[in-house]
Amino acid sequence: MKAAYHTLGCKVNQYDTEAMRELFEQAGYETVPFDGPADLYVINTCTVTGVGDKKSLQLIRRCRREHPSAEIIVAGCLAQRSPEQVRLPGVRLILGTQRRGEVVQLFEEAVCTGTQCVAVDSLKKTPFESLAIRSLSEHVRAYMKIQEGCNRYCSYCIIPIVRGPIRSRPIAEIRAEAGRLAEAGYREIVLTGIHLTSYGQDLKDGGRLADAIRAVHEVPGIRRIRLGSLEPVVVTPDFVHELERLPKVCRQFHLALQSGSDAILARMRRRYTASEFLEACRLLRTAFPDCALTTDVMTGFPGETQENFEETKRVCAAAGFARMHVFPYSEREGTAAAVMDGAVPRALREQRARELIALGRQLEKQALQAFTGKRVEILTEKAEDGISTGYTGAYMRAAVRGEYPEGCLVCAVVKAVQKDTLICDTDEEEEEQ
Ligand code: SF4
Repeated sequence: MKAAYHTLGCKVNQYDTEAMRELFEQAGYETVPFDGPADLYVINTCTVTGVGDKKSLQLIRRCRREHPSAEIIVAGCLAQRSPEQVRLPGVRLILGTQRRGEVVQLFEEAVCTGTQCVAVDSLKKTPFESLAIRSLSEHVRAYMKIQEGCNRYCSYCIIPIVRGPIRSRPIAEIRAEAGRLAEAGYREIVLTGIHLTSYGQDLKDGGRLADAIRAVHEVPGIRRIRLGSLEPVVVTPDFVHELERLPKVCRQFHLALQSGSDAILARMRRRYTASEFLEACRLLRTAFPDCALTTDVMTGFPGETQENFEETKRVCAAAGFARMHVFPYSEREGTAAAVMDGAVPRALREQRARELIALGRQLEKQALQAFTGKRVEILTEKAEDGISTGYTGAYMRAAVRGEYPEGCLVCAVVKAVQKDTLICDTDEEEEEQ
């Protein structure tokens, strides 16, 4: 049977899809591209915004329209939040954000009995669902999910409702998966989770995020460890000191800011102030002067005044972000913010987003320029016409003369910046295959 997969949303969803793909492959299903003919389509949905819902439903309907005789599995956050909404013609199995380990069996049973199966469970206290992965569609960097769920309930966020309470993956499993990925030839691992910052808080053995990072750091063959999104609260002097002793940790840190106004941060129920956020940035920059800081920022949150927005711009400029992901606020039914007073007109939310995106571009340019003349290490992804491209440790796109195989770490010196790319020459002194 031919099976095709499509993921909407975050890296954790991508990881979950890869795990389901591996289970189907182990059961003898052949993986084929999603935009071609298949007997089974697996759609892993997202519900973080209204757009996530819309795109998920559009994809299910399009799949049905273009492949009327094919089977469809709908999994993920929209299926968890609203199974009725995805109970559409052609959908054989509706799987929430749990029980992915049973996906093949649940699907085959439903096919055998000619029924539509809805396997969406409550997310009360369930252990971390360990889905082992050996290889990914990605060839160069491997995403590894080490944490699930969130207990924070930020006022605008639906994720705790669809992903449940925090569950951390045992360190032994993390080490084992890193070993398998190293054997499979991966040189870079991205540690990801729904709320990475709370890794270990549920573990009886008191494991912490730094312990999980160190476990991967000790695996031979792994050369780089990239961290998924963090909150400033985890960036303490001790944490930074531990990272200083782990040279494989990429000097790129994604710290979600969301707003630079303390008044809005409080309404968002974020657990830090703008000055605490900037202190976390200062700690990282002091320890890693060439590090890249990236972030997420929301505009037009209920109650956001022009002055609040100006505060956000000031904090972004002070942080000197290398990349900013900017989102105009969108209401999520079932969240506290959706019924808050002080709604900002949609047009103003979007206008502020455009302003922040423009600021982000300026800051990104400055961050790229700052690397001119510096040494970098490029993990190559592609080579053509005598040029190899890939990403540096700071996750900046880079191009270097020479055709290197995929997944090579090339030492280079930045000569210039073109658009969003560092133009480099190999560093004869350091070059190492
Ligand atoms: S920390 Fe807040 S924004 Fe992030 S997943 Fe949890 S509730 Fe959502």
